[in-house]
Amino acid sequence: MLVLVTGGAGFIGSHTCVELLNNGYDVIVVDNLSNSKRDVIDKIEKITSKKVKFYEIDLCDKEKLRDVFKKDRIDAVIHFAGYKAVGESVKEPLKYYRNNLDSTLTLLEVMKEFSCHNLVFSSSATVYGVPRKLPIKEDFPLKTTNPYGTTKLMIEEILKDVSKADLEMSIIVLRYFNPIGAHESGLLGEDPNGIPNNLMPYILKVAFNELPVLNIFGNDYETKDGTGVRDYIHVVDLAKGHIKALEKITTKKGIDYYNLGTGNGYSVLDIVNTFEKVNNVKINKRFVARRDGDIASCYADPTKAFKELGFKAEFGIEKMCYDAYNYVVKNTSK
Ligand code: NAD
Ligand code: UDP
Repeated sequence: MLVLVTGGAGFIGSHTCVELLNNGYDVIVVDNLSNSKRDVIDKIEKITSKKVKFYEIDLCDKEKLRDVFKKDRIDAVIHFAGYKAVGESVKEPLKYYRNNLDSTLTLLEVMKEFSCHNLVFSSSATVYGVPRKLPIKEDFPLKTTNPYGTTKLMIEEILKDVSKADLEMSIIVLRYFNPIGAHESGLLGEDPNGIPNNLMPYILKVAFNELPVLNIFGNDYETKDGTGVRDYIHVVDLAKGHIKALEKITTKKGIDYYNLGTGNGYSVLDIVNTFEKVNNVKINKRFVARRDGDIASCYADPTKAFKELGFKAEFGIEKMCYDAYNYVVKNTSK
């Protein structure tokens, strides 16, 4: 089965390519490298000893995308490509709406033209906004709090309409919780440009003295230690969830939605303390005011993905923290 992975040079996409190749799928990657590097493709090939066909093109470029579909019969698409920085999306909403929506519309049009009916889409737990209850189930009300999240929700709506209009379509929307960690080879990991927004990349910068101190946003939340609680999932577990989703879409038409999380909530202090312990390093930290738009707690009910996809995350936060650090160690000492 030939799978087109859009955004396959990125953090989650690259780990998913490895799992696809290890499970016998053939892989084509389309990425414009706006947030990734060419050598990621070589590293995927090195880990798997398999070949990846790579096209450095923008997904919004319909003619170039058509050429990709003309060359090979693509059975399914996993659509990761898009911008993902919440803060930047607030400052530059048009950039986010243009890229995330245009790329998806172009992809859907070309898939229709070439009768490719199977799609897995990367959505996010951000579509649940401020959940009224925990853990979060897939049928909870959806509401977004920033333009990035709104692009995800709008794409979910577009996909719902497409699946209603074309009964051949088979779509799975995966709502990711907080992916961290890295491939245990140390070859693939997260490489954010500039000052990171997310917790783990920020901890790593502090661990390597590239930033002086970790600001912990709030210690007065109604959580066990006052700091924010999230459902961190190892990126390799998350990648494996895509294989389960592919197995499902090829057996069923229509659209369905699944949380990909572990079901466990960990606080910022849990993560920092575990990181220090497993890596034997000290993280300089201080408490500062809450970050605008943050919620106290967010974690998944992973039951539906377990029951219907057979997906269960395996790795705990120790391995997530160890692998994330290992990736930077391996790539700094080179
Ligand atoms: P990433 O930025 O590492 O990967 C996205 C890739 O898409 C990058 O390689 C980038 O170069 C590429 N890209 C962007 N726009 C493109 C375009 N127009 N044409 C071609 N390529 C393009 O991000 P990631 O963390 O791997 O996230 C993958 C997907 O998962 C995104 O859609 C993101 O919104 C979603 N997601 C991520 C998280 C997270 O915390 N990382 C959480 C929930 C959902
Ligand atoms: N966080 C923090 N300092 C940082 C970055 C994040 O204290 O420099 C906290 C944040 O308030 C939240 C948790 O870490 O409670 C996860 O934040 P992240 O941005 O990684 O994910 P998201 O908020 O999108 O779930």
